[in-house]
Amino acid sequence: MNRLKAILSRIDRKGYGAYKDLQGSYDFGQFTLFVDKVQRDPFAPPSLVRVRTKENRFAPELFRNPVRRTAFEDFLNRAVEQAVRRTVRGNRGSGKSGRVEIQRTSQVVLPRSSIVVESGYVEARMAVGLPARGRTVDARAARAMLLDELPEVVQTALTPAGVDEGAAREHVETVEDASHLRNRLPELGLVAFVADGAILPRESGASDRPLGKGAVPFESPEEFRVAVELPNRGEISGMGIPEGVTLIAGGGFHGKSTLLSALAWSVYDHVPGDGRELVVTREDAVKIRAEDGRSVAGVDISSFIRDLPGGQSTADFSTPNASGSTSQAANIAEALEIGTSLLLVDEDTSATNFMIRDERMRELVQLEPISPFIDAVRPLHRDLGVSTIVVVGGVGDYLDVADRVILLENYRPCDATRRAREVRERYPSRTSHEEGEVRPPMNRRVRAASIDLSRGRKEVARGKGLATVELGRERVDLTYLEQLAEPGQTEAIGRIIGEFAAGGRSRAVAEVVDSAVRSIEKNGLDSLGNFRGHPGELSLPRPQEIAGAINRIRSLQATTG
Ligand code: ADP
Ligand code: MG
Repeated sequence: MNRLKAILSRIDRKGYGAYKDLQGSYDFGQFTLFVDKVQRDPFAPPSLVRVRTKENRFAPELFRNPVRRTAFEDFLNRAVEQAVRRTVRGNRGSGKSGRVEIQRTSQVVLPRSSIVVESGYVEARMAVGLPARGRTVDARAARAMLLDELPEVVQTALTPAGVDEGAAREHVETVEDASHLRNRLPELGLVAFVADGAILPRESGASDRPLGKGAVPFESPEEFRVAVELPNRGEISGMGIPEGVTLIAGGGFHGKSTLLSALAWSVYDHVPGDGRELVVTREDAVKIRAEDGRSVAGVDISSFIRDLPGGQSTADFSTPNASGSTSQAANIAEALEIGTSLLLVDEDTSATNFMIRDERMRELVQLEPISPFIDAVRPLHRDLGVSTIVVVGGVGDYLDVADRVILLENYRPCDATRRAREVRERYPSRTSHEEGEVRPPMNRRVRAASIDLSRGRKEVARGKGLATVELGRERVDLTYLEQLAEPGQTEAIGRIIGEFAAGGRSRAVAEVVDSAVRSIEKNGLDSLGNFRGHPGELSLPRPQEIAGAINRIRSLQATTG
């Protein structure tokens, strides 16, 4: 600490570059401060530091298995965020002066590189804006930050004395229960589970936090109610959605999309208080939507679309500008390629002509390349074991292909399967649905050489915000990967693709993704790429989103193998 003080006194009011002298480690008694990378000027990305406590005196059961450890690290990340908000004064001069940041968390719990819990220590990785007056060192402000605020953050967020242990325990147990529940879905023959009492609606379209006032808690229809025993909470009950084809029907604004969206996010575990803590979906579930304008590289969409104008092949379909229907078909084919057991489809965000074609259109339009999704949902389940949950408000034809119908009325679900059967008998569908033939998943090889990482003299492969990956001069748009949760995942995806591209070899998409995921499992997120400084900004993406990003690279070339 004294050494740090001495350096700060010496460089006070010198040019900002003098901060470079801080690089190194400092003994603070209770913890060690590592200054890994010092920013070049006050406006550059902030400096990277780590604080590592000298011992870990938290109760060992908080991190005794991998699931608990991830949950506890998530808890500490949030504790640091809170402590920073409470303790750090913030803006103190030009540029990023005075700011302290740790990875920003969402409502979901993910493995992240920002916190490391080991049996002998706890470490937090942060970014710090070293304070400047104009472009000179402001040592007084730096002293306040590094010598007062930072130790206070460590004390309140990273030691048992400062942390609410009851809350930590609840956090860890909640996540363990959810994870256990999700793992049990296959043996229960379920694709999803929504606990009684769950709060599904969100605060607003722009916020993933729970709706406060007026939220109607979820209550399972008797027919779908399942009881499950959890390791911490004991027995709970809720709605089990079995494998097969499930319809979510209901009038406009009665909560259909809200339910589907809760299912889409419940591939992840949620924090206590979220409302969806005990909502779980198969971890490989993919939300499918139309995405016109996206590029497609060598995808076999022939299960859905044949004989395009100009004789274009649909078994090896490429376009820089997909239509609503071809994009939705490609999204499904790609989901099958990387592996999924559940498709989530909302009529609201689907291409109508992909979903259905009625009698009149069959008569009027002879040259129709699309065989609609309705003809594929049953074969998808029967032949490939892939279930579907589809939200419908308008197209009653789907009653013909559903194993069950969940009807939402005023946000309350009921089992309308029997009623749907009666309706079908009274109003037989006038179009005969011929089950289509669904081709087995393709297996494309993608060309590493088709991804150019160079931008000027630099190589670039990184995330930018939640929905963009920058590869060389290309910006890959991930806006419609609806299950991407945090910018840290996007950053990780950027680095994974960067490594694949730099490797120069053509490989199968699934192979690229699998080897990345396995390497992270073995060596941790820290192993992703050669860092200048510390890798405190990564969180774990799913295989589905990694593949989704690769598939959206506009320059991508792929061959079916
Ligand atoms: P739909 O897809 O059936 O048209 P949405 O799911 O978009 O309807 O929901 C319509 C509105 O109702 C949204 O503003 C949503 O937040 C709200 N909502 C959904 N479920 C509930 C609930 N259980 N309690 C209170 N409000 C809800
Ligand atoms: Mg809707």
